[in-house]
Amino acid sequence: MTSVNKKTVEDIQVSGKRVLARCDFNVPIADGAISDDKRIRESVKTIKYLMDNGARVILCSHMGRPKGEFNMKYSLAPVAKRLSELLGTEVIMAADVIGEDAKAKAAALKDGQVMLLENVRFHKEEEKNDPAFAKELASLAEIFVNDAFGTAHRAHASTAGVADYLPAVCGYLIQKEISIMGGALNDPKRPFVAILGGAKVSDKIGVITNLIDKVDTLIIGGGMAYTFMKSLGHNIGDSLLEADKVELAGSIMKKAEEKGVKFLIPQDNRIGDKYDANCAFRTVDSDDIPEGWMGLDIGERTEKLFADAVKGAGTVVWNGPMGVTEFPNFEHGTIAVAQAVADSGAISIIGGGDSAAAVEKLGFADKMTHISTGGGASLEFLEGLALPGIECLNDK
Ligand code: AMP
Repeated sequence: MTSVNKKTVEDIQVSGKRVLARCDFNVPIADGAISDDKRIRESVKTIKYLMDNGARVILCSHMGRPKGEFNMKYSLAPVAKRLSELLGTEVIMAADVIGEDAKAKAAALKDGQVMLLENVRFHKEEEKNDPAFAKELASLAEIFVNDAFGTAHRAHASTAGVADYLPAVCGYLIQKEISIMGGALNDPKRPFVAILGGAKVSDKIGVITNLIDKVDTLIIGGGMAYTFMKSLGHNIGDSLLEADKVELAGSIMKKAEEKGVKFLIPQDNRIGDKYDANCAFRTVDSDDIPEGWMGLDIGERTEKLFADAVKGAGTVVWNGPMGVTEFPNFEHGTIAVAQAVADSGAISIIGGGDSAAAVEKLGFADKMTHISTGGGASLEFLEGLALPGIECLNDK
């Protein structure tokens, strides 16, 4: 389990110091223009704190997969431009990462000024967490701030390696992730309800195993629910099935029973006659899915069952959609659950990735306590794994 008691930017003297801040500027770019600047906007709070407290701010991030080579298609220059607008001050763009230009610009920084290094993945050493590269990167600064939760589950040079050479603290984004998610795992307000959906049991098995010891209710929806139904001997037709996980599904349900955890799977399902947005569809009970048909969403009775289970919860953790939300005919269950979580008054935590995107697309983002900024990272956090980008930070 990742320690949640980490020093933050407020626990270290940054005035007059060169601070290397790892952000997540991995934004979508189309034709040279940023199509969604959410991640840049979210990083502003930490950057502003550093500027306002007289730090000399050296920002770094990855973008895309340039495969260890300088490729200007993946340049962070558009990010520097957007960030300049958001901060109302120039963000100086370096032409390289640890080269002459970056070094000269870092050395010339004045208190409160901000610069951005080029894409750290222009060097193949970044993802290898090469110590010499990490040391060179660290040599630009006197303090390391990690605020990139989305890559905190990766031990890369700019996310973890540099912390071997510098005092290391977290920014506000990582602080929020660890205080809210860590709080839910360590000392949840009860009843504690977890809702897990999405495609595969195998992707979520670590989360299920960790949460089953902590929650009062475990709700399983989405494609992974059919493997659980199969283990109960139900006819699941052509629904998504992980045949090698049927036994495991059965043992998870047995464990839930032994522990007194309320375990809910769908009672009815919206089924389609093919995996297609325009397929024929209807609703049937969970033990009655005909051959040639597949469960693509939970049914109305299940929506109510799940909503009732969420009502009165103290904490809700949700990861993974209830159905194939890419098809409008099968997004109903996910909308219903989002509504129930929003109405519950519980501390609501939405894992990143597909569930975060669904909650945002469906307009419930403002109603949730916390939407994680990292898909893979939040999943690993909920699995109880130690995240290298957080582990490497100094304890309080
Ligand atoms: P994940 O990344 O594991 O959270 O899974 C998200 C994916 O699960 C989405 O692309 C959904 O379309 C898919 N999914 C959800 N429910 C089903 C289902 N009943 N059958 C097939 N795929 C599903």
